Amino acid sequence: MEPPSLPPPDDIARAAELIAQAEALVIGAGAGMGIDSGLPDFRGPGGFWRAYPALGQRGLDFYEVASPHTFDTDPALAWGFYGHRLALYRTTRPHAGFGILRRLSERLRHGAVVYTSNVDGHFQRAGFAADSVTECHGSIHHLQCTLPCSDDLWPADGFVPEVDAATCTLLNAPPACPRCGALARPAILMFGDGSWVDRRTRLQEARLQRWLATATRVVVIEIGAGTAIPSVRDFSHELLIGHGARLIRINPAEPAVPTRLDVALARPAATALLALAAALDDDG
Ligand SMILES: [Zn+2]
Repeated sequence: MEPPSLPPPDDIARAAELIAQAEALVIGAGAGMGIDSGLPDFRGPGGFWRAYPALGQRGLDFYEVASPHTFDTDPALAWGFYGHRLALYRTTRPHAGFGILRRLSERLRHGAVVYTSNVDGHFQRAGFAADSVTECHGSIHHLQCTLPCSDDLWPADGFVPEVDAATCTLLNAPPACPRCGALARPAILMFGDGSWVDRRTRLQEARLQRWLATATRVVVIEIGAGTAIPSVRDFSHELLIGHGARLIRINPAEPAVPTRLDVALARPAATALLALAAALDDDG
């Protein structure tokens, strides 16, 4: 005989109740979602330099390197950084929480959409349909011209970066714009970025708004989205106000929620989602 299972903790039980009553799910994801897949955490003092010691030795911080300006001044360094990330995101397997969310979305009448500030493409990799994902900061798997000479985007698939990790520099030829031959860059929003081609993101956002117009009983599960770069949090709050949605916020560091009807889960992403799955009888 199996021992009786323990009831879920109170916060998990309340979150499971919100999901059980939902007809549509919006998954909002920030950097904290990727940490449990083993992706580096750039946040906090030293986080970025722990991930990229070569940049620490040169005293270069995240905001300086992740900038379109660096593609002009030091393209080998800029592509050393983004090439390393591109290769890392291609080879990293999304953690179990992604599968839990995908199965959850299949149970709901209106299904689910994803709104993510992560550029890693991991929701698609975990089996989410491409047309259900909005990447508000773009995707590293797409390239654009650095000028840019047009608003063309193209897949990064053909580019295989060779990066010297000790110096964070690209060893092979960087990708070039097929239209004008200028240096190409990832089509993602960088710091101080006036040249990001956001056409793909704008189309995704328009599609998301059409879905929201028909969705009823919306619950937002927001995961690992901090206040430092608040795009995802701002979107969650818009849904609470504009669509009467309820919010489940998974965030170990900044879990506070706007109202008492919302639920704060002060836990890491994968831990919280596994506990939710257990409470919802999802055995994977
Ligand atoms: Zn060009």
